[in-house]
Amino acid sequence: SAAVGTGWNFDNSYARLPETLFVRLNPIPVRESRLVVFNRALAEFLGLNADALAGEGGAAIFAGNRIPEGAEPLAQAYAGHQFGYFSILGDGRAILLGEQVTPRGERLDIQFKGSGRTPFSRRGDGRAALGPMLREYIISEAMNGFGIPTTRSLAVVTTGEPVFRETPQTGAILTRVAASHIRFGTFEYLAAQGDRNTIRVLADYTLRRHYPDLDKTENPYLALLRAVLERQASLVAKWLHVGFIHGVMNTDNMTLSGETIDYGPCAFMDAYDPETVFSSIDKDRRYAYGNQPQIAQWNLSRFAETLLPLIAPDQKTAVTLAQEAISSFSEIFERAWLAGMRAKIGLFNEKAPDKSLIQELLSCMHKNQADYTNTFRDLASERLPDAPVFQDPAFQSWHERWMARLSEQADSREESRVLMQARNPAVIPRNHKVEEALEAAVERNDLSVMNRLVEVLSRPYESSPEHAEYCLPPEPSERVYQTFC
Ligand code: AMP
Ligand code: MG
Ligand code: MG
Repeated sequence: SAAVGTGWNFDNSYARLPETLFVRLNPIPVRESRLVVFNRALAEFLGLNADALAGEGGAAIFAGNRIPEGAEPLAQAYAGHQFGYFSILGDGRAILLGEQVTPRGERLDIQFKGSGRTPFSRRGDGRAALGPMLREYIISEAMNGFGIPTTRSLAVVTTGEPVFRETPQTGAILTRVAASHIRFGTFEYLAAQGDRNTIRVLADYTLRRHYPDLDKTENPYLALLRAVLERQASLVAKWLHVGFIHGVMNTDNMTLSGETIDYGPCAFMDAYDPETVFSSIDKDRRYAYGNQPQIAQWNLSRFAETLLPLIAPDQKTAVTLAQEAISSFSEIFERAWLAGMRAKIGLFNEKAPDKSLIQELLSCMHKNQADYTNTFRDLASERLPDAPVFQDPAFQSWHERWMARLSEQADSREESRVLMQARNPAVIPRNHKVEEALEAAVERNDLSVMNRLVEVLSRPYESSPEHAEYCLPPEPSERVYQTFC
């Protein structure tokens, strides 16, 4: 019962910022809330009473029908470059409930997605359909399983109300947990209004919340730009390591915290091809797998522009300093990418030709349409299976080069294998398995397929015979060519 206490412990620092950054409003209540999935482990990490929230009480809260004590609901204002074009956006279907302070003292945003119209809804209905909310749940939890910075998913409820897309769908609300929801686009929103004072307030807030060590540096705003750039470079490198394609890398979907956010038509690549695109809305293939580093850099430039007045009083100096930072991206990204790729092929130390060694493997995979995940995982096994890529003479000469390279380090083959198994997932959320789970949940009200998938994805580096079905690339008939948001 409510008397037991549900463990909410809000302290809402964002709600204390200047009001130009948000609009206070409650989620719009729904007709009939039903809890579909609930992340008990995350609830406990947050200090919430999982038992109290797993039932009807939780359904009412996660639907927005009952506002927990201490919450101060608001919709955040922001702008963003969408597919290269600037627009004013804001939370059109999301409400920030508040910041939960965990028992360990971490501060995490609790946000509803699909909670009804807001002043930022434009032509949208403010609602979300069950399939896409479950999709975000699965993929964000998978990213967390890989150890990649990401927002998390606490719960999904259905609303008892249809949402109208091409066809009527089951309405749903996702509860998202994030280090914060400060986006590049939040800064762009203020810059578009020429509101320099609030940019400084927001930058100071971001420094305190996400980069407390930089507060006292000589030029904290330049330090902020550099630190955000480093986190984004590291994040995108990690995406590439597991074959992830975000799909909508608009500046409103890039966080200051460095977490992956906003899982729409994102997907994981099966066969290796840097030009892979799944998103149905990415007509120009702007956000293809291999373009993601350059796009991150482009987005960072848009963010840097908003900080110029803070970086130096003189515009020319500010531009020079910001440009220096932005041009360092390629090198910082490459270092992060190479570090992860070295581990993927079992290297502990660094040698100059490693980059070409890695690229030679990738081009061999590309030529043979080899499965990205399984090829690396197979390289970690004691005997290579007879996949077509391993029969290619180009691979065989690569293999000799690789063996020679491994012998240039003191570590044993076995130590390399252990490293590779820890850094090459056996299981990824393959599109056809995600679709299968969503179909069972949405069409047949059967959550067991999804629950099993999420469970397997929480331990993606483990090899187990029970996981075999999740490791198979799709049959031609199972192949998913497009993903939708
Ligand atoms: P996204 O593509 O999810 O990053 O969303 C881009 C913008 O569209 C954000 O401002 C969202 O809040 C808004 N949006 C997306 N779907 C809806 C909807 N059904 N109703 C209102 N706003 C929406
Ligand atoms: Mg978004
Ligand atoms: Mg979205």
